[in-house]
Amino acid sequence: WPPHVEEVLGTLEAAGFQAFVVGGGVRDRLLERPCHDYDVATDARPAQVAALFERTIPTGIRHGTVTVLPASASGLPVEVTTFRVEDGYSDGRHPDRVRFTNRIEADLARRDFTVNAMAMDTAGRLVDPFGGAQDLVRRRIRAVGEAAERFAEDGLRILRGLRFAAELGFTLDPATQAAMERETHRLGRISLERIGQELARIARAGWGPVADALARGPYLHQLPPPWPNLYPGFARLAGLPAHLAAWPRAVRRSAPWSEEERQAASLAVWAFAAGCPPETAAALARAVRWPVRIGRLATRALAAMADDPAGFSPVQWRFALWREHPPALAIACRLLDWWERPDGPCPRMASYKSYAAQQPLRHIGDLAVDGRTLLALGLQGPAIGQVRERLVEAILRGDVANDPAELMPLARRWAAEAEEAQ
Ligand code: ATP
Ligand code: MG
Repeated sequence: WPPHVEEVLGTLEAAGFQAFVVGGGVRDRLLERPCHDYDVATDARPAQVAALFERTIPTGIRHGTVTVLPASASGLPVEVTTFRVEDGYSDGRHPDRVRFTNRIEADLARRDFTVNAMAMDTAGRLVDPFGGAQDLVRRRIRAVGEAAERFAEDGLRILRGLRFAAELGFTLDPATQAAMERETHRLGRISLERIGQELARIARAGWGPVADALARGPYLHQLPPPWPNLYPGFARLAGLPAHLAAWPRAVRRSAPWSEEERQAASLAVWAFAAGCPPETAAALARAVRWPVRIGRLATRALAAMADDPAGFSPVQWRFALWREHPPALAIACRLLDWWERPDGPCPRMASYKSYAAQQPLRHIGDLAVDGRTLLALGLQGPAIGQVRERLVEAILRGDVANDPAELMPLARRWAAEAEEAQ
């Protein structure tokens, strides 16, 4: 194991506890695939784990998970979870109760697939009660225990199974596949984000038999709308390695976005990546019962992306900031920058910030000439509004400043013209 993992295992063992690498770390090691996130399982209780290490985060104390932060600068955090068994699952996704146990085998039994249900200690001793190693050799995804039951407990496992098959290039064990197809109605209870993450990983893994099965099988019809319509567009994601997975990080870096803006951005990115029309974002918001205004913000962001701000002149920027909802424009800029260069600079966002800061006028109420002044010039009714709009345009074009001394001559001229016209 890498040194930072060995250190965690060694510390737990030295204190008299059992300690194993579990799940993906074991699977990937046996497959000689790179692995970047290691999970450790132990019979030490969360408080005991926390007491053994200098720096820890109580990630999910109730579920038994403590994140151990590295002692050395070169290390990485490791999640240490107390052996546990689960039951309940009344929401079709999460266990109602978890109980700690002292037996690694009991912990492995709650895991989804045999290839993910193996444990290995520092000495390299493998604990494999469900035949995971053999399934690795046969390149097969098979549920631990009674497949239909496992998918009924947690519907997300259906998509995880397809995703592992796609990523590892494995086939689905026939009984497991049959259960997946029978239990597809469970997908309706899974959150948008989790579905999106799995679908994106399947799409990214390429269009093998799994993508085919997904496209032709019963799965998609069971996803909450609008996923079935969105899905064909996911083919476009296959050529964008790691792209979509990095988006949440990009959003986080775009502080200080509000939670609402973050949610809207995450809707927009899916619809954009899948090449869907802007209204899809509103449908996505409805599907997950997010507030309507989030869907609307995402839709506006997608619409703003259609005319790429990258080529805007200063005048175009000022008009865009006036006409479009600025947060929607900001999301559009960030998303397009990221799309072009995920880790590169953000030229659109930089322009957005600088033009937003210099915007001469944000609201009609900020106009330096008010309605009463125009009324005094002899203007009436709708003409007042029209003149104010023309003044705004003159300011945005850069012809005049938002200053009565510059605006009044224009207003007087237009008032005189209006009178003549009557
Ligand atoms: P990867 O990190 O490549 O997605 P992984 O196997 O490490 O693969 P994780 O989601 O990191 O997957 O989960 C770690 C382990 O936890 C899995 O290997 C599996 O044993 C268990 N696990 C995770 N999610 C579930 C689930 N929904 N149901 C049952 N077991 C799960
Ligand atoms: Mg993992």
